[in-house]
Amino acid sequence: MCDNSALALLGGDPIITYQIPRYNSIGKEEIAAVNSVLETGILSDFLASWGPNFYGGSKVQEFEKKCTEYFKVNHAIAVNSWTSGLVCAVGAIGVEPGDEVIVSPWTMSASAISILHWNAIPVFADIDPDTYCIDPQSILKNISNRTKAIIVVDIFGQSANYVEINKIAKKFNLKVICDTAQAPGGLSMSLPSGTQGDIGGFSLNYHKHINTGEGGILVTNDDRLADNMRLIRNHAESIVEEKKHHTLVNMIGHNFRMGEIEAAIGMSQLNKLRKLVSIRQSIASQITIGLSGLKGLTLPKTAQGNEHVYYKYAMQIDPMVLEVDKFKIIEALKTEGVPGLSSRYVNVHLLPIFQNKMAYGSKGFPWISEFTSREIAYNKGICPVAEDLQDNRFFSLDLCGFEFQVEDIDLIIEAFKKVWRNLGALKKSI
Ligand SMILES: *Cc1c(COP(=O)(O)O)cnc(C)c1O
Repeated sequence: MCDNSALALLGGDPIITYQIPRYNSIGKEEIAAVNSVLETGILSDFLASWGPNFYGGSKVQEFEKKCTEYFKVNHAIAVNSWTSGLVCAVGAIGVEPGDEVIVSPWTMSASAISILHWNAIPVFADIDPDTYCIDPQSILKNISNRTKAIIVVDIFGQSANYVEINKIAKKFNLKVICDTAQAPGGLSMSLPSGTQGDIGGFSLNYHKHINTGEGGILVTNDDRLADNMRLIRNHAESIVEEKKHHTLVNMIGHNFRMGEIEAAIGMSQLNKLRKLVSIRQSIASQITIGLSGLKGLTLPKTAQGNEHVYYKYAMQIDPMVLEVDKFKIIEALKTEGVPGLSSRYVNVHLLPIFQNKMAYGSKGFPWISEFTSREIAYNKGICPVAEDLQDNRFFSLDLCGFEFQVEDIDLIIEAFKKVWRNLGALKKSI
């Protein structure tokens, strides 16, 4: 590559001129698994009445058993999405309307919406700038006498600081839910990621490491919570009496059931998880070696005790060092042909639903109701670290979006180096 070639953004030739194929983990195994289900003619075998089929068809139950072994837990519960899984989890712990649940602002909106689903109030704590996961110190600052739980998000592929979080939870008698949609197959505190709290779980949506198209899996070691979640998954209200269930609290049920085809795919995908994770890890280490030393660029940090599975490769630029704003850098990288770049992550607290406090109807429920005891703020400024990262520093490369080859990554690294060589020209172009 010629050292003085102009940036594509300024009229030069781009480094990458071809499409990198979309991530695809589906192969012969999944096709065979789906066919074997189709041949039986049984695509789902759930019944919303009390009996063995209350727990789903044979593939669903087999998949759940495999998940309990893989994730080393007593219970795994398959659902039709992880959004549904989060609704089950928050319901199962018995939150009351107006109770508060602390959650990270850096997540997919479903982590916070699952709280609202039960008419409880999301309270956002700030994130740690090294891992992008919820900051235990900020959790402490946000605890009130109404706090019931913490939804911890293991963002971008690594777990949050559960050593501190679990200490806080114990002290204040809070439940911990791990949203590990982005970190299946990782490790933290020598346990599979997603199993550090009272309830955890994973998404099987097609954006994630392993997928069944749509789907999710809940994990817990607690028999009572597992029972509650299985009821919420499958029309709880119509079963509680026959089952002689121990509680009526939050026994509003749904149809969150997984079908047999998805469960069959899920088993094949689970067999591949280790391999899919190690591919992402080797891509990440190639990028880290290639980009280390570029000034003002911070590469991902793995916290002590964690194994990172690199759903995204998260980076930060230092705008003071580069003297070019991050959006310009990202634009320059994109025009060089680098795929899968995101310039931001959601700051969920800034979404209109929270800014306007409008979720159920138009009158501010559940924030304005006889059940709430204090006003919760969602203004810009409540999560300064998350907001500054978003506005000025953070960007990421999607490692679960493409089938990257070593040569593709070499070119991506070359594109970064080209942009960094041309920072002067980029600065002048503004
Ligand atoms: C993908 C994702 C979800 C939602 O999972 P679905 O299966 O798509 O419903 C929730 N939380 C996080 C952090 C996610 O990445």
